[in-house]
Amino acid sequence: MSIKLGTNDLAKYPFLNEASTYVKETHFDLQEFDRTEMEFILNRSFNKIDNFIKNGETNYKLEKFEIEILTFLASLLILKSASIDIITKKFALFESMRFEKYLVEDLKNSFKDEKKRLILLKIFNEIFKIDIFCETIVNEFYKIRVIDYIHRSIVFHEEEWKLINRTVKNGFVYLNVNEIVRLFRNELSLLIIDKIKNMKLVTFPDKVLKKSQNLKIYWDSINKRSKVSDHVNKNRTTPPCIDHIYKVLNNGENLPHSARLLLATFLLFSEKNIEEIIEIFKKLPDYNEQITRYQLEHLSGKKGSSKKYFVPSCEKIKLQNLCHETFVCKGIINPIQLLGKRRDEIEKEEGKG
Ligand code: SF4
Repeated sequence: MSIKLGTNDLAKYPFLNEASTYVKETHFDLQEFDRTEMEFILNRSFNKIDNFIKNGETNYKLEKFEIEILTFLASLLILKSASIDIITKKFALFESMRFEKYLVEDLKNSFKDEKKRLILLKIFNEIFKIDIFCETIVNEFYKIRVIDYIHRSIVFHEEEWKLINRTVKNGFVYLNVNEIVRLFRNELSLLIIDKIKNMKLVTFPDKVLKKSQNLKIYWDSINKRSKVSDHVNKNRTTPPCIDHIYKVLNNGENLPHSARLLLATFLLFSEKNIEEIIEIFKKLPDYNEQITRYQLEHLSGKKGSSKKYFVPSCEKIKLQNLCHETFVCKGIINPIQLLGKRRDEIEKEEGKG
Protein backbone atom coordinates (compact mmCIF):
# COMPACT_ATOMS: atom_id res chain seq x y z
CA MET A 1 0.00 0.00 0.00
CA SER A 2 1.37 3.40 -0.90
CA ILE A 3 1.17 5.82 2.02
CA LYS A 4 1.03 9.49 1.22
CA LEU A 5 2.46 11.94 3.74
CA GLY A 6 0.26 14.80 4.84
CA THR A 7 1.42 18.41 4.51
CA ASN A 8 1.86 18.52 8.29
CA ASP A 9 4.32 15.65 8.10
CA LEU A 10 6.25 17.35 5.31
CA ALA A 11 6.54 20.51 7.42
CA LYS A 12 7.95 18.48 10.32
CA TYR A 13 10.20 16.22 8.27
CA PRO A 14 11.48 18.29 5.30
CA PHE A 15 14.42 15.90 4.78
CA LEU A 16 12.12 13.20 3.36
CA ASN A 17 12.13 12.26 -0.31
CA GLU A 18 8.58 13.55 -0.74
CA ALA A 19 9.77 17.03 0.25
CA SER A 20 12.45 16.94 -2.48
CA THR A 21 9.81 15.73 -4.94
CA TYR A 22 7.64 18.69 -3.98
CA VAL A 23 10.51 21.12 -4.77
CA LYS A 24 11.11 19.41 -8.13
CA GLU A 25 7.44 19.37 -9.05
CA THR A 26 7.05 23.09 -8.40
CA HIS A 27 10.07 23.69 -10.73
CA PHE A 28 11.66 25.83 -8.03
CA ASP A 29 14.95 27.29 -9.23
CA LEU A 30 17.57 27.99 -6.55
CA GLN A 31 18.26 31.43 -8.04
CA GLU A 32 14.76 32.33 -6.90
CA PHE A 33 16.27 32.81 -3.43
CA ASP A 34 17.51 36.15 -4.78
CA ARG A 35 13.94 37.39 -5.17
CA THR A 36 12.78 39.94 -2.58
CA GLU A 37 9.83 37.73 -1.54
CA MET A 38 12.33 35.05 -0.51
CA GLU A 39 14.08 37.23 2.05
CA PHE A 40 11.68 35.99 4.68
CA ILE A 41 12.78 32.39 4.04
CA LEU A 42 16.50 33.25 4.03
CA ASN A 43 16.18 35.21 7.26
CA ARG A 44 14.32 32.31 8.86
CA SER A 45 17.04 29.87 7.80
CA PHE A 46 19.82 32.12 8.98
CA ASN A 47 18.15 32.83 12.34
CA LYS A 48 17.64 29.13 12.90
CA ILE A 49 21.34 28.36 12.24
CA ASP A 50 22.36 31.35 14.34
CA ASN A 51 20.19 30.25 17.24
CA PHE A 52 21.52 26.70 17.10
CA ILE A 53 25.19 27.68 17.09
CA LYS A 54 25.08 30.64 19.47
CA ASN A 55 22.45 29.63 21.97
CA GLY A 56 22.12 25.88 21.53
CA GLU A 57 18.35 26.37 21.29
CA THR A 58 16.06 23.95 19.48
CA ASN A 59 12.90 25.98 20.11
CA TYR A 60 11.30 26.60 16.77
CA LYS A 61 7.85 27.60 15.57
CA LEU A 62 6.63 25.44 12.71
CA GLU A 63 5.10 27.18 9.70
CA LYS A 64 3.22 25.85 6.67
CA PHE A 65 4.92 22.98 4.84
CA GLU A 66 5.93 25.09 1.80
CA ILE A 67 7.78 27.50 4.09
CA GLU A 68 9.41 24.72 6.11
CA ILE A 69 10.64 22.85 3.04
CA LEU A 70 12.21 26.02 1.59
CA THR A 71 13.65 27.05 4.98
CA PHE A 72 15.33 23.67 5.28
CA LEU A 73 16.66 23.90 1.72
CA ALA A 74 17.96 27.45 2.25
CA SER A 75 19.69 26.37 5.50
CA LEU A 76 21.50 23.60 3.64
CA LEU A 77 22.56 26.06 0.94
CA ILE A 78 23.90 28.61 3.44
CA LEU A 79 25.87 25.89 5.23
CA LYS A 80 27.19 24.43 1.98
CA SER A 81 28.35 27.84 0.87
CA ALA A 82 29.95 28.64 4.25
CA SER A 83 31.71 25.23 4.27
CA ILE A 84 32.60 25.31 7.97
CA ASP A 85 32.64 21.72 9.15
CA ILE A 86 32.04 22.49 12.81
CA ILE A 87 29.00 24.66 12.07
CA THR A 88 27.60 22.03 9.70
CA LYS A 89 27.94 19.39 12.42
CA LYS A 90 26.37 21.65 15.04
CA PHE A 91 23.45 22.42 12.75
CA ALA A 92 22.95 18.73 11.92
CA LEU A 93 22.94 17.80 15.60
CA PHE A 94 20.42 20.47 16.60
CA GLU A 95 18.21 19.82 13.57
CA SER A 96 18.13 16.11 14.39
CA MET A 97 17.27 16.91 18.03
CA ARG A 98 14.43 19.11 16.80
CA PHE A 99 13.14 16.36 14.49
CA GLU A 100 13.50 13.93 17.38
CA LYS A 101 10.92 15.90 19.38
CA TYR A 102 8.38 15.59 16.55
CA LEU A 103 9.14 11.90 16.13
CA VAL A 104 8.63 11.20 19.83
CA GLU A 105 5.34 13.09 19.83
CA ASP A 106 4.12 11.35 16.67
CA LEU A 107 5.20 7.90 17.81
CA LYS A 108 3.31 8.38 21.07
CA ASN A 109 0.16 9.27 19.14
CA SER A 110 0.73 6.42 16.72
CA PHE A 111 -0.46 3.84 19.26
CA LYS A 112 -3.99 5.19 18.80
CA ASP A 113 -3.77 6.29 15.19
CA GLU A 114 -3.21 3.57 12.59
CA LYS A 115 -2.51 6.04 9.73
CA LYS A 116 0.09 7.90 11.75
CA ARG A 117 1.75 4.61 12.61
CA LEU A 118 2.01 3.60 8.97
CA ILE A 119 3.51 6.99 8.08
CA LEU A 120 6.12 6.66 10.81
CA LEU A 121 7.01 3.12 9.78
CA LYS A 122 7.48 4.50 6.27
CA ILE A 123 9.75 7.29 7.60
CA PHE A 124 11.94 4.83 9.51
CA ASN A 125 12.08 2.59 6.51
CA GLU A 126 12.95 5.38 4.06
CA ILE A 127 15.46 7.22 6.20
CA PHE A 128 17.06 4.56 8.35
CA LYS A 129 16.41 1.55 6.11
CA ILE A 130 14.99 -0.34 9.05
CA ASP A 131 11.71 -2.01 9.95
CA ILE A 132 10.32 -1.12 13.35
CA PHE A 133 7.32 -2.98 14.68
CA CYS A 134 4.61 -1.86 17.02
CA GLU A 135 4.20 -4.25 19.96
CA THR A 136 0.55 -5.03 20.38
CA ILE A 137 0.80 -7.16 23.52
CA VAL A 138 3.06 -4.94 25.63
CA ASN A 139 1.53 -1.48 25.68
CA GLU A 140 3.22 1.44 23.98
CA PHE A 141 6.42 -0.30 22.95
CA TYR A 142 8.14 -0.70 19.63
CA LYS A 143 10.51 -3.50 18.79
CA ILE A 144 13.38 -3.88 16.34
CA ARG A 145 15.49 -6.84 15.29
CA VAL A 146 18.42 -7.64 17.59
CA ILE A 147 20.93 -7.22 14.77
CA ASP A 148 19.57 -3.74 13.96
CA TYR A 149 19.75 -2.82 17.64
CA ILE A 150 23.35 -3.97 18.10
CA HIS A 151 24.42 -2.13 14.98
CA ARG A 152 23.10 1.18 16.39
CA SER A 153 23.57 0.89 20.15
CA ILE A 154 27.30 0.24 19.77
CA VAL A 155 27.99 3.99 19.88
CA PHE A 156 26.38 4.35 23.32
CA HIS A 157 28.58 3.78 26.34
CA GLU A 158 25.94 3.88 29.06
CA GLU A 159 25.08 0.57 30.76
CA GLU A 160 21.37 0.87 29.90
CA TRP A 161 22.10 0.42 26.17
CA LYS A 162 23.93 -2.89 26.62
CA LEU A 163 21.91 -5.73 25.14
CA ILE A 164 22.12 -7.59 28.44
CA ASN A 165 20.12 -4.78 30.08
CA ARG A 166 17.34 -4.76 27.46
CA THR A 167 14.17 -6.79 27.12
CA VAL A 168 14.79 -9.24 24.28
CA LYS A 169 12.22 -11.74 23.01
CA ASN A 170 12.04 -13.89 19.88
CA GLY A 171 14.89 -12.03 18.19
CA PHE A 172 13.51 -8.55 18.93
CA VAL A 173 14.62 -5.79 21.31
CA TYR A 174 11.83 -3.82 23.00
CA LEU A 175 12.15 -0.05 23.24
CA ASN A 176 9.92 2.74 24.42
CA VAL A 177 9.31 5.72 22.17
CA ASN A 178 12.07 7.93 23.60
CA GLU A 179 14.61 5.15 23.35
CA ILE A 180 13.81 4.21 19.79
CA VAL A 181 14.15 7.81 18.62
CA ARG A 182 17.34 8.40 20.63
CA LEU A 183 18.83 5.32 19.00
CA PHE A 184 18.63 7.02 15.62
CA ARG A 185 19.87 10.52 16.51
CA ASN A 186 23.36 9.93 15.11
CA GLU A 187 22.00 8.59 11.84
CA LEU A 188 19.64 11.50 11.38
CA SER A 189 22.44 13.91 12.04
CA LEU A 190 24.72 12.11 9.54
CA LEU A 191 21.95 12.15 6.98
CA ILE A 192 21.72 15.94 7.21
CA ILE A 193 25.53 16.29 6.96
CA ASP A 194 25.48 14.03 3.87
CA LYS A 195 22.73 16.10 2.28
CA ILE A 196 24.92 19.20 2.63
CA LYS A 197 28.11 17.45 1.46
CA ASN A 198 26.44 15.90 -1.56
CA MET A 199 24.97 19.14 -2.90
CA LYS A 200 26.59 19.76 -6.26
CA LEU A 201 26.48 23.48 -6.97
CA VAL A 202 28.65 25.68 -9.12
CA THR A 203 27.11 29.01 -8.14
CA PHE A 204 25.03 30.14 -5.20
CA PRO A 205 22.33 32.82 -5.17
CA ASP A 206 23.88 36.15 -4.08
CA LYS A 207 21.65 36.45 -1.04
CA VAL A 208 22.68 32.99 0.14
CA LEU A 209 26.33 34.01 -0.24
CA LYS A 210 25.68 37.07 1.89
CA LYS A 211 24.22 34.97 4.69
CA SER A 212 27.06 32.48 4.56
CA GLN A 213 29.53 35.38 4.67
CA ASN A 214 27.93 36.52 7.94
CA LEU A 215 28.39 33.02 9.33
CA LYS A 216 32.06 33.05 8.33
CA ILE A 217 32.61 36.42 10.02
CA TYR A 218 31.02 35.16 13.20
CA TRP A 219 33.05 31.95 13.14
CA ASP A 220 36.32 33.80 12.53
CA SER A 221 35.63 36.01 15.53
CA ILE A 222 34.97 32.95 17.73
CA ASN A 223 38.16 31.32 16.49
CA LYS A 224 40.24 34.38 17.22
CA ARG A 225 38.94 34.41 20.78
CA SER A 226 39.06 30.72 21.47
CA LYS A 227 41.54 28.92 19.27
CA VAL A 228 41.94 25.84 21.40
CA SER A 229 45.59 25.39 20.49
CA ASP A 230 46.29 28.89 21.88
CA HIS A 231 45.59 27.54 25.31
CA VAL A 232 48.55 25.27 24.93
CA ASN A 233 51.84 26.84 25.86
CA LYS A 234 54.40 25.48 23.40
CA ASN A 235 57.17 25.28 26.04
CA ARG A 236 54.95 23.58 28.57
CA THR A 237 53.71 20.02 28.54
CA THR A 238 50.03 19.44 28.01
CA PRO A 239 48.86 16.07 29.36
CA PRO A 240 48.26 13.84 26.33
CA CYS A 241 44.70 13.08 27.49
CA ILE A 242 43.93 16.81 27.45
CA ASP A 243 45.72 17.26 24.13
CA HIS A 244 43.50 14.57 22.65
CA ILE A 245 40.37 16.34 23.92
CA TYR A 246 41.56 19.58 22.25
CA LYS A 247 41.96 17.69 18.97
CA VAL A 248 38.43 16.29 19.19
CA LEU A 249 37.09 19.78 19.94
CA ASN A 250 38.97 21.28 17.00
CA ASN A 251 37.39 18.66 14.73
CA GLY A 252 33.94 19.77 15.83
CA GLU A 253 33.19 16.39 17.38
CA ASN A 254 31.15 15.87 20.52
CA LEU A 255 32.74 14.80 23.80
CA PRO A 256 31.35 12.28 26.27
CA HIS A 257 30.38 13.65 29.67
CA SER A 258 33.50 12.17 31.33
CA ALA A 259 35.80 14.03 28.87
CA ARG A 260 33.98 17.33 29.48
CA LEU A 261 34.42 16.85 33.20
CA LEU A 262 38.12 16.09 32.82
CA LEU A 263 38.72 19.14 30.60
CA ALA A 264 36.70 21.49 32.81
CA THR A 265 38.34 20.41 36.07
CA PHE A 266 41.78 20.53 34.46
CA LEU A 267 41.24 24.05 33.09
CA LEU A 268 39.80 25.27 36.40
CA PHE A 269 42.82 23.84 38.17
CA SER A 270 45.08 25.62 35.64
CA GLU A 271 43.54 28.89 36.85
CA LYS A 272 41.53 29.59 33.71
CA ASN A 273 38.48 31.62 34.56
CA ILE A 274 34.95 30.54 33.67
CA GLU A 275 34.68 32.98 30.74
CA GLU A 276 37.87 31.60 29.18
CA ILE A 277 36.67 28.02 29.61
CA ILE A 278 33.29 28.86 28.10
CA GLU A 279 35.08 30.13 24.96
CA ILE A 280 36.75 26.71 24.64
CA PHE A 281 33.50 24.78 25.16
CA LYS A 282 31.84 26.84 22.40
CA LYS A 283 33.46 24.44 19.93
CA LEU A 284 31.20 21.60 21.06
CA PRO A 285 28.45 20.83 18.55
CA ASP A 286 25.81 20.75 21.32
CA TYR A 287 27.18 23.79 23.17
CA ASN A 288 24.63 25.58 25.32
CA GLU A 289 25.91 28.61 27.21
CA GLN A 290 23.45 28.42 30.09
CA ILE A 291 24.11 24.75 30.83
CA THR A 292 27.90 25.12 30.37
CA ARG A 293 28.06 28.12 32.71
CA TYR A 294 25.94 26.35 35.33
CA GLN A 295 28.11 23.22 35.20
CA LEU A 296 31.37 25.19 35.43
CA GLU A 297 30.10 27.19 38.38
CA HIS A 298 29.07 23.93 40.03
CA LEU A 299 32.46 22.28 39.39
CA SER A 300 34.35 25.31 40.63
CA GLY A 301 32.33 25.34 43.86
CA LYS A 302 30.63 28.65 43.10
CA LYS A 303 27.20 26.98 42.97
CA GLY A 304 25.56 24.07 44.75
CA SER A 305 27.38 22.40 47.61
CA SER A 306 30.38 24.79 47.24
CA LYS A 307 32.46 21.65 46.82
CA LYS A 308 35.27 22.18 44.32
CA TYR A 309 35.74 19.20 42.03
CA PHE A 310 39.27 17.92 41.60
CA VAL A 311 40.90 16.67 38.39
CA PRO A 312 40.32 12.89 38.13
CA SER A 313 43.29 10.58 38.64
CA CYS A 314 45.08 8.88 35.73
CA GLU A 315 43.68 5.60 37.00
CA LYS A 316 40.11 6.88 36.70
CA ILE A 317 40.82 8.51 33.31
CA LYS A 318 42.18 5.18 32.06
CA LEU A 319 39.00 3.41 33.19
CA GLN A 320 37.01 5.96 31.19
CA ASN A 321 39.07 5.22 28.06
CA LEU A 322 40.31 8.81 27.92
CA CYS A 323 44.01 8.14 28.57
CA HIS A 324 46.46 8.65 25.69
CA GLU A 325 49.62 7.99 27.63
CA THR A 326 53.02 8.87 26.18
CA PHE A 327 56.54 9.05 27.63
CA VAL A 328 55.73 12.36 29.37
CA CYS A 329 53.35 10.51 31.68
CA LYS A 330 56.02 8.27 33.21
CA GLY A 331 55.51 7.98 36.97
CA ILE A 332 52.56 10.34 37.32
CA ILE A 333 49.21 9.57 38.90
CA ASN A 334 47.31 12.73 37.95
CA PRO A 335 47.50 14.92 34.80
CA ILE A 336 48.06 18.03 36.93
CA GLN A 337 51.55 16.74 37.72
CA LEU A 338 52.47 17.73 34.18
CA LEU A 339 51.35 21.32 34.69
CA GLY A 340 54.25 23.70 34.46
CA LYS A 341 56.67 21.00 33.33
CA ARG A 342 58.81 21.94 30.37
CA ARG A 343 58.55 19.53 27.47
CA ASP A 344 62.20 19.93 26.49
CA GLU A 345 63.28 18.98 30.01
CA ILE A 346 61.20 15.81 30.01
CA GLU A 347 62.60 14.97 26.57
CA LYS A 348 66.12 15.45 27.87
CA GLU A 349 65.44 13.20 30.88
CA GLU A 350 64.10 10.56 28.53
CA GLY A 351 67.02 10.94 26.13
CA LYS A 352 64.74 12.15 23.33
CA GLY A 353 66.07 15.67 23.06
S1 SF4 B 1 48.74 8.85 31.99
FE1 SF4 B 1 47.50 10.40 32.98
S2 SF4 B 1 48.20 12.33 32.17
FE2 SF4 B 1 48.98 10.75 30.83
S3 SF4 B 1 47.45 10.63 29.20
FE3 SF4 B 1 46.93 9.11 30.73
S4 SF4 B 1 45.51 10.11 32.07
FE4 SF4 B 1 46.50 11.71 30.92
